[in-house]
Amino acid sequence: MAGSSMPPVRIGQGWDTHRLVPGRPLILGGIQIPSEIGLSGHSDADVLFHAVTDAVLGALALGDIGMHFPDTDPEWKDAGSIQFLKHALKLAAQRGYALANVDSTILLERPKLKEFRGAIRENLSCAVGLPLDCVSVKFKTGERVGPVGEGLSCEAQAAVLLAASPK
Ligand SMILES: [Zn+2]
Repeated sequence: MAGSSMPPVRIGQGWDTHRLVPGRPLILGGIQIPSEIGLSGHSDADVLFHAVTDAVLGALALGDIGMHFPDTDPEWKDAGSIQFLKHALKLAAQRGYALANVDSTILLERPKLKEFRGAIRENLSCAVGLPLDCVSVKFKTGERVGPVGEGLSCEAQAAVLLAASPK
């Protein structure tokens, strides 16, 4: 599928937000964080995997996660979001691209994520098939302002670089 005019690199960015509600698991980067509140959504609501998936789709100019995995589709109800990410990476590979690096930020007031940094980063690096030094996960709070700061939501942002893979 790779044409001779394909650019050597492509950049993509993704953003996602989910509401925090009682009685739902808090899953970030495939890691379940002990918490009395979790993220509401049709799938497992893994806001980090969703942002990275959207960044990959964006780099390919293939629309957004909602177009590929509609939340009206029973196939994706409570789906593990790693499936979305793997699918986006497959679309990249089919077009001759491999992920070069990922940078991401999770915005959450509480619980504090510091002790899960290693696990989240390691799991994301496994999910995307990159060495750890090509995968970054940063944490921020909302400084008690806005929906994140008031503890109503969790957001994630991601940037990715895709590089044309050698034939
Ligand atoms: Zn989402």
